[in-house]
Amino acid sequence: MSNLLQRWFTGTHTPALNGGLALPRNKQGLPNGNRIRCLEVPSTVFIPLTNYHHDALHPHVQVGDEVQCGDALAEGVIASVGGRVIDIASRPIIHPSGLSVPCVEIATDKSCEYPRPVHAPQKQLTLERLALCGIQGLGGAGFGTAGKFSAALQTHGAITTLVINAVECEPVISCDEALMMTEAAEIVDAIQALIRMSDCKRCLLAIENDKDQALSVLTTLLQARGMEQSVELCALSPIYPSGAERPLIERLTGQCLPPGSPPSQIGVVCINVATALAAWRAQQGHPMVSRIVTVAGEHAAHATNVRVTFGTTVAEVLRQTGNDDMAVKSRVRAGGPLSGFDLHRLDVPVTATTNCIAVEPVRQPALSLPCIRCNACSDVCPVKIMPQQLHWFAAKDDLQQSARYRLMDCIECGCCDAVCPSSIPLTQTFRYAKGLHRAEQSKQRLAAESEERFRLREQREAERTAAREQKRKAAQARLAERSDPITDALSRIRNRKKSGASQQSSTPATSSARTRNSAGPNNEDTPE
Ligand code: SF4
Ligand code: SF4
Repeated sequence: MSNLLQRWFTGTHTPALNGGLALPRNKQGLPNGNRIRCLEVPSTVFIPLTNYHHDALHPHVQVGDEVQCGDALAEGVIASVGGRVIDIASRPIIHPSGLSVPCVEIATDKSCEYPRPVHAPQKQLTLERLALCGIQGLGGAGFGTAGKFSAALQTHGAITTLVINAVECEPVISCDEALMMTEAAEIVDAIQALIRMSDCKRCLLAIENDKDQALSVLTTLLQARGMEQSVELCALSPIYPSGAERPLIERLTGQCLPPGSPPSQIGVVCINVATALAAWRAQQGHPMVSRIVTVAGEHAAHATNVRVTFGTTVAEVLRQTGNDDMAVKSRVRAGGPLSGFDLHRLDVPVTATTNCIAVEPVRQPALSLPCIRCNACSDVCPVKIMPQQLHWFAAKDDLQQSARYRLMDCIECGCCDAVCPSSIPLTQTFRYAKGLHRAEQSKQRLAAESEERFRLREQREAERTAAREQKRKAAQARLAERSDPITDALSRIRNRKKSGASQQSSTPATSSARTRNSAGPNNEDTPE
């Protein structure tokens, strides 16, 4: 079935992507020279208190607290608007499984605070500033940007290559392209700031060769700033999923990442172009509180790219973009046609990872048939996984064998689904199995943490006991050095008694003398 889709194996300046699909360019709602519209801040926003692993985080605020834009709501989670916390409760978020996590509900003061800096501008971008401003990946899984740089510095000692990822080859999604068309000058400033901060040896800016306008503006700006030497512009053939981190790094650097290893292992940091811009804005004092979202799809009444404040619900985005009527009778998806998934409800909040809201026609799910071992799925897999084998174990929840077949290296691109003649829901099964794997890892991590806490407590207790014993022995030694006070007292008493006895033995002479002395005067008075 793979031959039904044309595969484009050669890039203009770089080696070919292994696998992937050449899909027709279908970018709707590009800005046409206008600034990107900023949607109104709704009356309430919902901020999920989770991290990259979807662990529930402990809130730093309580119901009734007043918060300012940029305030920390939990570790690594910031308030996207100012207002009052009116609830902290579990709510569904944008997730293929319909996952619910604790969310802070803020009654907003309705002022769009985005253009106002919250922190003092800095001369040089720092990791601390990235963390303070809540900068996280806007292109993929939402990993903390400061964490990416720190991991490379810790594991590799230096950042050898910085990759700015402007590749967005999935049909329908055009938020990064819209950003490059409207804010190219700031993006070049951002790249300069990141090169300085990371002290990287090499910086690559990856972009598809069919993004004509963005490519030409960026080339002109890099030349005008004299940055052609420091930034290598890599124009890639638009094969889906060229923008996925792992295949992109392997394609650009020629370095093969060991299975299960992050790019930091080889000293590479890859960040999305919109994340780079957000990092530069953090240097100016702006926390990351919004992102560009593509609203498009076959059933979209008004395809557009809009800036949305985090915590705004999907329903509100559809309402403000004039797509709410069509959404009622359509299928609303988060993400693109291949990598995205259907949303079960629309009151879920937009977060850093929401790049696209697609309004698509309702489709009956295709009947899944047995695998015919055609290998079409492994031919198109960009990370060289064997999806048919992996599916066998993942569908049976066999996490051990799934891990052997590199479950966690699957980038959920959906290429295997697109070519499978048996309509087997491969990607959906892998997503589910990855969820189980993460939950298992989380359980093991928590168990290891509590084991470590117990070990440290035991160690502290042993140290305290040893210290007490040492003190006791020292006191005993001091006592042994000193003479025994009771023996001393007894010997004093004995000595006193002895001296008393010797006094008594000398008493008769003394008394007779005293008698004589006392009788003396009388005797003298007595006439002889
Ligand atoms: S979804 Fe996973 S297994 Fe399927 S093609 Fe993409 S990376 Fe390969
Ligand atoms: S899962 Fe089986 S039938 Fe589907 S593409 Fe792979 S090998 Fe072919």
